[in-house]
Amino acid sequence: MRITAAVMQKADGTLTRRRIEPEEVELDDPYDDEVLIRITSCGVCGTDKGAIHGLEPFPTPGVLGHEGAGIVERVGRDVKSIGPGDRVMSGFPFCGECRTCRRGEMRYCEKGQALSFSGHRLDGSGGMRRLNGEPLAGRFFQQSSWATHTLALERQLARVPDGIDLDLCGPYGCSISTGAGPILNELRPIPGSSIAIFGVGNVGLAAVMAARLTGATRIIAVDTMPERLAVARELGATHSFEHGKDTAAELKELTGDQLDYSVEATDGSNLVDEAITALGARGTCAMVGGAKMSATVTYNHPDVLMHGKRIIGVMGGGGQTPRFLESLMELQRQGRLPLEKLVRFYDFADVNQAVDDSDIGKAIKPILRMPH
Ligand SMILES: [Zn+2]
Ligand SMILES: [Zn+2]
Repeated sequence: MRITAAVMQKADGTLTRRRIEPEEVELDDPYDDEVLIRITSCGVCGTDKGAIHGLEPFPTPGVLGHEGAGIVERVGRDVKSIGPGDRVMSGFPFCGECRTCRRGEMRYCEKGQALSFSGHRLDGSGGMRRLNGEPLAGRFFQQSSWATHTLALERQLARVPDGIDLDLCGPYGCSISTGAGPILNELRPIPGSSIAIFGVGNVGLAAVMAARLTGATRIIAVDTMPERLAVARELGATHSFEHGKDTAAELKELTGDQLDYSVEATDGSNLVDEAITALGARGTCAMVGGAKMSATVTYNHPDVLMHGKRIIGVMGGGGQTPRFLESLMELQRQGRLPLEKLVRFYDFADVNQAVDDSDIGKAIKPILRMPH
């Protein structure tokens, strides 16, 4: 069928970022285990921007977008749990068969990298092409939702219950679960504990909101942008620090060197060393921020060893199941996870503006609305 998709063009050496232009393209029919979705909205997330800036591998020309929400139009022959007319949002893709998938840890699927970044299905087909026949890299996170319609795997979808604003739901699939998941699934702060969140963009602010749902009594936001720190305080941070060279020492002073948890959520894992240093003995640092694929981090090894500190990576919030996504939606509906305070909506045609506004911090969580 003919759809409109935002196509990321080939790299142009004269530009600092790749151009994106909505154009009419052809989309194939769904496979037996796939669903055709009329996309109503899709978030702009760090990994989209990483691809646009050439920091993440994704072939061009291709179609990005991995926080899609919409209404099911058609389903493949084997799809049983979802039908036409259902409201759905799309989470991370996974194979469902590998060791980690069988253990219920789909965020660590052994085929996750290929499913998210190869630009095609595991069988090599892409499913999207230009009107002149030129193949397009699609299937970004097996969805490529910067489009009016897309295909996704049945198993990566969660149903959106009635009473929940569908246009807000896409970001639960990536940035919001990436921030809230480390708190709710992994760190699980004990009552009276302290937690510092380094970087309060959309991911870090989701961590702040999630921390507020726990018994942690000190929720400390660290960022370079005072406006974002103000939002963090509004969402539940009890303390905030403008990042400077003494931030780790200031955190030690504030907590009496007993910081229990830190979350590194900067756009590039820039502050991992400080997030580890700031911890008290037996503290845990969760690394969740996006980084260049070639990034390495340094930390003070004797400090980590002697104080029994722990460092964990948490991909996309960890342990994702439809139940986790559905619980985030329900928490938002109850007013306990006020995602709507981070969001700025853009028309699909203004996708480049949304990306630029996000880059400069003017928009915390841009969501594109599709024209239907
Ligand atoms: Zn798998
Ligand atoms: Zn993302």
